Amino acid sequence: MATAEKTCSTARSNVAPENGPRGGWDNATPVISRGSPKIQSRHFEKLAIVYVRQSSPQQVLHHRESRARQYALKDYAQVLGWPSERVIVIDEDQGQSGTLAENRTGFQRLIAEVTMDHVGIVLGLELNRLSRSSKDWHQLFELCGVFGTLLADQEGVYDANDGNDRLILGLKGIMSEMELQTMRNRLEYGRLNKAQRGELFYSVPLGYVLLPNGKVEFDPDQQARSVVHLLFEKFEELRSVRGVFYWLVAQGIKVPYRVQRGPRKGELEWRCPSLSTLNQVFHHPIYAGAYAYGRRPPSSQRSQASGKPRSRRLLLSEEWQVLIRDLLPAYITWERYLQNGEQIRQNHNRPDTRGAPRNGRALLCGLLFCGECGWRMQVTYRTADKPHYDCQHHQSEAKAAADSACSGLSGNVLDELVSQQVLRVLEQGSLELSLRAQADVRRERERLDRQAQQNLKRARYDAELAERRYRAVDPDNRLVAATLERQWEQALRGERELQEQYDRAGQQTRPELTPEEEARILALASDIPALWHSPETTNADRQAIIRCLVERVVVHVERHSEHVEVVVHWAGGYQNRLELVRPVRWYDQLRDVDHLKKRVAELHALGRTAAQTAAILNAEGFAAINPTKKFTGDMVRDLRLKLGLRREQGDASLLEPDEWWVRDLAQNLKMPWQTLREWAIRGWAHGRQTPGQKLWLLWADQEEITRLRKLRDSTSHGILGYSSELTTPKLRPERP
Ligand SMILES: [Zn+2]
Repeated sequence: MATAEKTCSTARSNVAPENGPRGGWDNATPVISRGSPKIQSRHFEKLAIVYVRQSSPQQVLHHRESRARQYALKDYAQVLGWPSERVIVIDEDQGQSGTLAENRTGFQRLIAEVTMDHVGIVLGLELNRLSRSSKDWHQLFELCGVFGTLLADQEGVYDANDGNDRLILGLKGIMSEMELQTMRNRLEYGRLNKAQRGELFYSVPLGYVLLPNGKVEFDPDQQARSVVHLLFEKFEELRSVRGVFYWLVAQGIKVPYRVQRGPRKGELEWRCPSLSTLNQVFHHPIYAGAYAYGRRPPSSQRSQASGKPRSRRLLLSEEWQVLIRDLLPAYITWERYLQNGEQIRQNHNRPDTRGAPRNGRALLCGLLFCGECGWRMQVTYRTADKPHYDCQHHQSEAKAAADSACSGLSGNVLDELVSQQVLRVLEQGSLELSLRAQADVRRERERLDRQAQQNLKRARYDAELAERRYRAVDPDNRLVAATLERQWEQALRGERELQEQYDRAGQQTRPELTPEEEARILALASDIPALWHSPETTNADRQAIIRCLVERVVVHVERHSEHVEVVVHWAGGYQNRLELVRPVRWYDQLRDVDHLKKRVAELHALGRTAAQTAAILNAEGFAAINPTKKFTGDMVRDLRLKLGLRREQGDASLLEPDEWWVRDLAQNLKMPWQTLREWAIRGWAHGRQTPGQKLWLLWADQEEITRLRKLRDSTSHGILGYSSELTTPKLRPERP
């Protein structure tokens, strides 16, 4: 139908509303009778906005027809009566999905323009495609209603304030969302169907190839396969992904990677390993021959706040949508796959897992359990070499009363006890161990040698190939010949470097052990304690060894006793009950503290000196608070003080020659004793504290007293302070 002449439709506004096209819809010149009665002069005063969007870059590329039709709406706006300079095309959202408005700046701009009352009409191809989300769509047409903005598509012009139009617009929104949902479901069911047959592959991990017929096979490259085997063997040995990673890096072993896309698709590349690649390998069930689909939650579950996909953590195997075992070629057994997964889980440092061996001093972290409540005990470090095992059950259970909290214990004593037990077990099998170690060294070297030889073979092949290519080209074709010659040279250089490396590594990588090496391994194995304490053995090594032998260690720590019951659960199921004396902080924590107190009081009454008392207590086998230490005179004095048997103040036996109680010296110098004490703390005078009450004793002979007097009389010189002559005490003679 021919376009009617442009008329302002104010006169016809009271005519019954007519929707729908009155003419055909043509690509280049969309034809609808202009002058829809809904368009009034106030609409012409504002802009016409054409919103163009296609969901994905592929659609933008391939659905040109749809795109052309969308742009043709600009002409349509002119037909409706807007001058071309008043028609704005918003096409910023090309290639953006319509499901959420957040990422679509164009849609947001459209909304902004509407709310600023700049817009007379919004045009879109199939209006509901303005937005695939009901929420965004409703927001748009509600706003259009508030600001009197019209909406138009090829079906007609809509007024959001008109009851019938609102119904249609609302329905269009619902249907659009429904359509999207249907499409998505259809796609997902299609995928799931294919996955349930075990035939859906997007890509395959290293060590496998996806053939054009959709079948999955082992990588045809022998070296690629051998590296994958190596990864799993090494994991079995080192029991941590990180461990395997560091080993690969240290040995310079690269991992095979098939190029996924581009002109070199399918070619084999050797790349440096990364932790994420290794994690993928050890988590992937394909290596155990299993097909799995839906190992992660669907990507459509996005975080509402950011619009970004939620973190797509791997689900547990029982939550996978599809799992078909024994479908694909396997590098490892399913049981081994599960064991590896459990090992990786145990390596995480969480309350319910062991955690990987670490280089901290504590040897039993992850293995130690509280005998009172059954919780795994945690390690804390007061200093780097003083680990302390604590049960933190009371913290998590908010057992506020200190009485109900389980007691912890010092780490070193317990570690020493368990280490001794482990060493005893190791010594029994030292011969077997040495043989095993020799075999291990041999196997490791074989592996490295095989790797190196394969690398060399590959380099040789590359060089030969480059040479053949060079010879095949017509020498007159200089440009190509020069490039090929350069490639050939490069390949030769690479081969030579590898050969040199291989030769240099020499004996190290040869699988055979020399007699000296065998003897050395035997010697090491026969002196296991030395090996254990050797500085070359790391704490992580020691932890790993203990973990091989010991399943768990349970300690029953009594609050009011230094005696601890230790139960070692060995890997074979055998249990071993041991007694340990732990260091405690206070005498009251000792089991026979009453007996000890009584004995000290008796000896004090008999007039024994502190040193004599200490010797008697040691001889009678009393335990000190630290089991590794014997009683000393100072400890006895301290104990007497705590028992209220004596006071240190005024006890002349504590004073050495030329020593003063701080108050006495202060009186002598006629100055406040606090100042004098401060000087002693700063090192301006020789001083020490008594073992029990920590009272200050200052040493000062006549010369020192003179100096201190001078120091007292001098004044501080601003930031320079006192002269250093006055503040430096003279050298004190050796204490007896
Ligand atoms: Zn506990």
